[in-house]
Amino acid sequence: MATATASTLTVLFPTKTKTKTITSRPHSHLLTIKASSTNPTLPGRKLRAAVIGGGPAGSSAAEALACGGVETFLIERNPPTVAKPCGGAIPLCMLEEFDIPTHLIDRHVTRMRIISPSNLAVDFGKTLKSHEFIAMLRREALDSFLRSRAESLGANLVSGLVTSLDLPDSSTAPYVVHYTSNNSRRSLPVDVVIGADGANSRVARSIHAGSYTCAIAFQERITLPDHKMNYYEDLAEMYIGNDVSPDFYAWVFPKCDHVAVGTGTVRAKQDIKMYQRGIRERVKHKIKGGKVIKVEAHPIPEHPRPVRVRGRVALVGDAAGYVTKCSGEGIYFAAKSGRMCGEAIVKASEGGDKMINEDDLKREYLRVWDNKYITTFRFLDLLQKVFYGNNAAREALVELCGDEYVQRMTFESYLYKKLADGDRWQDVKMVWNTMASLMRCNIVGR
Ligand SMILES: Cc1cc2nc3c(=O)[nH]c(=O)nc-3n(C[C@H](O)[C@H](O)[C@H](O)COP(=O)(O)OP(=O)(O)OC[C@H]3O[C@@H](n4cnc5c(N)ncnc54)[C@H](O)[C@@H]3O)c2cc1C
Repeated sequence: MATATASTLTVLFPTKTKTKTITSRPHSHLLTIKASSTNPTLPGRKLRAAVIGGGPAGSSAAEALACGGVETFLIERNPPTVAKPCGGAIPLCMLEEFDIPTHLIDRHVTRMRIISPSNLAVDFGKTLKSHEFIAMLRREALDSFLRSRAESLGANLVSGLVTSLDLPDSSTAPYVVHYTSNNSRRSLPVDVVIGADGANSRVARSIHAGSYTCAIAFQERITLPDHKMNYYEDLAEMYIGNDVSPDFYAWVFPKCDHVAVGTGTVRAKQDIKMYQRGIRERVKHKIKGGKVIKVEAHPIPEHPRPVRVRGRVALVGDAAGYVTKCSGEGIYFAAKSGRMCGEAIVKASEGGDKMINEDDLKREYLRVWDNKYITTFRFLDLLQKVFYGNNAAREALVELCGDEYVQRMTFESYLYKKLADGDRWQDVKMVWNTMASLMRCNIVGR
C-alpha cells in the first residue's frame, strides 16, 4: 500500500474551517470538554477528519466532529434517495437523544407479535405505556436527514466513492483518502479517519482490522391492498422456526405504504431464498394480493472486529461490528458509536487544536464504548444461542414472551437502552419460568 509524505501533502490543508459554534442540545456539553493531552498543537489550522460513509454512524460522527471544532469531510457514495436494505425499527430513546423529528416516523408500532414454529402467537407490548412505541422509518429518510444536519452544522458533505486509503509514515503525517467523484479521481489528506462504511468496510480492509462473521439478511418490500395494510397499522411480526431461519428470525415490519418481509441467517446463507419462501408461506394469507416493489439483501455483522482502532483510524457502526445478536439491531448502536467516536476525537484534540494518536482513540472511544455496551452484546449473544437453536427452544421462547414481567424488562431495555429496574422476587420467578419452559420443551437435559 502506498504511503503519503507529509511534505507533499500538508500544503494542501487549508487553514480555515467551516465549523460553527453549536448550542443545540445534543452537543452543548462539548463546549466544556477539556483534555490534559500532551499531543502537539497544530500550526495555524484545525485537526482535519474524513468520515467515510454517510449512514447513521458516519453522519453522527461528522456532526459531533464539526460541532466540536474539527474540520470534517463526510464522504458518501450514494445519493439521498438510495435506501440501505434495513427494517428501519429504532428505539424510543434514539428519537430524543438524536433529535429525530417525528415527521420522519412512518409507523408507531405498539404491538410486536412473536409467532412460534407451531404458530403459537404472543403479543409483546402489553406493558407499554401510552406514549411508548417502536418507531419505524425508511432509511432513505433517516439517512438523508442525518447527513443534511451534519452538513448544516459545519461538515463538508462530499459525494464520492472512496477507493483506497494511504497510510502515513509518521505519527503526524497525513492519511490520504482517494475517492472518485463525478467521474474524476480525487485525494484528500487528513489527520484522522473514521470508517463508517458499513459491513463491507474498505477502511477496515485498509488498516487490516480483521474480518468478522456475517449473517445475510434478505428482504422484500411489498405493497398490500388497503384492508391488508390496515392489519399492520401498529403491528410488527417476528416469526421463528426452522422453516424461516435456522438461527435468526423472520419479520414483517410495517412501513409508510408497504410492509418489509424478510429473514436472515448466519449458518445457511446459501439457503436464504428458501427461508424467504418459508416466511412468505407463513404469511401468505396476510400478504395475498400484494405487489413486490423491491428485493434487497445485505450482510449483518455478528460480532465486533478484532481491531477497531489502528493508528489514527477508528471504525464505528457496522464497520466495527456493532449489531446485537438476537434482535439484529444496529441503527442506534451505529449512531451512538459514531457520536461517541466523534466526541472522543474532539476531546483528545481539545476542540480540534491538537493532533491525536491511537492511545487517545482507545482510551476515549473504545474503552468508553466497551464499558457501556459489551455486557448487552454478550447477553443477547447468549439468548440467541439458547433460544434460536431449534424449534423446541423457540417454542419455549414464545411461551416465555407471554409473561408480562419478561415483556416489561425486554421492552424497557430495548426502548431506553439501559437495564430496567428489576424486582428481585420477579427476577427469581423469571429464571424459574425460563428453566421450566426449557424443561417442558425438552431443551434442558438434552
Ligand atoms: C435487511 C436488514 C434489516 C435490518 N433491520 C434493522 C432494524 O429494523 N433496526 C435496526 O436497528 N437495525 C437493522 N439492521 C441493521 C442496520 O441496518 C445497520 O446496523 C445500520 O445500518 C448500520 O449503520 P452504519 O452507518 O454503520 O452503516 P450503513 O447503514 O451500512 O452505512 C454505510 C454507509 O457507507 C456508505 N459507503 C460504503 N462504502 C463506501 C465507500 N467506499 N465510499 C463512500 N461511501 C461508502 C454506504 O453507501 C452507506 O451509506 C438491518 C440490517 C439489514 C441488512
